[in-house]
Amino acid sequence: MAQSVEIVTIGDELLLGTTVDTNAVFLARALGEIGVPIARRATVADNEHDIADAVNQALERTGGVITTGGLGPTADDLTRPVLARLFGRELREDPAIVAALHALWASRGRGGALPPSNLQQALVPEGAEVLANGQGTAPGLRLTDDQGRWVIMLPGVPRELRHMTATHIVPWLTERGSGTVLRSRNVRTTSIAESALAEKLGPLKREVEGLPLAYLPGHDGVDLRVTARGYPAAEAARRLDAAVAQIRDAVGTYAYATDGVSMPAVVLDMCLAHGDTIAVAESCTGGLLGARLTEVPGSSRVVLGGVIAYANIVKEQELGVAADDIEMHGAVSEPVAVQMARGVRGMTGATIGVGITGVAGPDGGTPDKPVGTVWIAIDVRGEVTTNRAIYIGDRAEVRHRATQVAMDLIRRALLGMAT
Ligand code: ATP
Repeated sequence: MAQSVEIVTIGDELLLGTTVDTNAVFLARALGEIGVPIARRATVADNEHDIADAVNQALERTGGVITTGGLGPTADDLTRPVLARLFGRELREDPAIVAALHALWASRGRGGALPPSNLQQALVPEGAEVLANGQGTAPGLRLTDDQGRWVIMLPGVPRELRHMTATHIVPWLTERGSGTVLRSRNVRTTSIAESALAEKLGPLKREVEGLPLAYLPGHDGVDLRVTARGYPAAEAARRLDAAVAQIRDAVGTYAYATDGVSMPAVVLDMCLAHGDTIAVAESCTGGLLGARLTEVPGSSRVVLGGVIAYANIVKEQELGVAADDIEMHGAVSEPVAVQMARGVRGMTGATIGVGITGVAGPDGGTPDKPVGTVWIAIDVRGEVTTNRAIYIGDRAEVRHRATQVAMDLIRRALLGMAT
């Protein structure tokens, strides 16, 4: 097993919540990829005592610590002197860093001389290895004590941190590592609850191919994630591929994609394969379905356009919805959704028309049409399918879920047709 590592992110702004700690997340993922487990994460203020305390405790537990932040040229940048003191090392000016700082300052055309405060960044604890930054002025530093315990100091700027993780951290830890990896894969499902998925999975519901299975519910549905930890890369890939195949088999058509592939991308691919085009008529989703579909590059080959038919007058005049049906059944009703889908298909010449009408909330609900009620109709070459559901959640969730179901209806309709 590889040595585990702790991460200490440094900065008042992280504790105040004004900056989101993306560095810790990035490092955890990058180290996970090479099978180096993160044992613990801490965040501390720009404060001498807290930095020294967090790093000292982490060193005692795991013997390997990565810090980010506090390497800059200003008075609140304390990481370098504090950790030099913790390791009992003097700070010395490194002439190569001084020269590089002068050169970088001149190359950026800032004029005048390098401000003296920048020279703080040239101070290196005795015996530390300097890790070139490549993207900014503050170099990283690695200090190792006589028991082999180490701390690596990286800058806080996320772009610099990402670059240095790739150029220094990953290669160094890989060399020292155990040759195993930590990898995950996802099977994405929609329109099915976690509990129903667990039933479908039966004996696979906790573990597949010896890999633990996690259920991750979100707006798009439930992602099923399998994780291989502590295997060599080839064995991890073999187990993950086999696990994904078994999960897909067990959950059938509820699985719409794997890993990071989105529902819009799946639907657009299927439409391309079938030679279909889409037009949307949206009331409560106000263009969200069109936006989600057109987020995917290349969507212009499939998406023709649509109408945001929020007011009844637009439903009637642009899409040809019968005023009588609105009067009799209400704007949120099956006949209206169907006429919206048919209307937009006729208007654009698309092979697939979608109509969505509902009560997104928080107001506007009635006893028989509570907030979250949405009617969706799809007209695929004249074959109409409808769906009514009451979505749980706030306005944004109701709207998002409705677009997901609309796309899932298209996907299911196309699954039933030969290409
Ligand atoms: P600089 O040379 O810019 O002073 P530094 O190493 O001293 O770099 P900080 O001053 O702590 O780093 O932070 C620089 C910038 O990076 C700030 O905008 C800060 O909000 C951002 N930052 C710092 N730490 C993190 C983090 N953990 N996650 C995301 N952003 C961060």
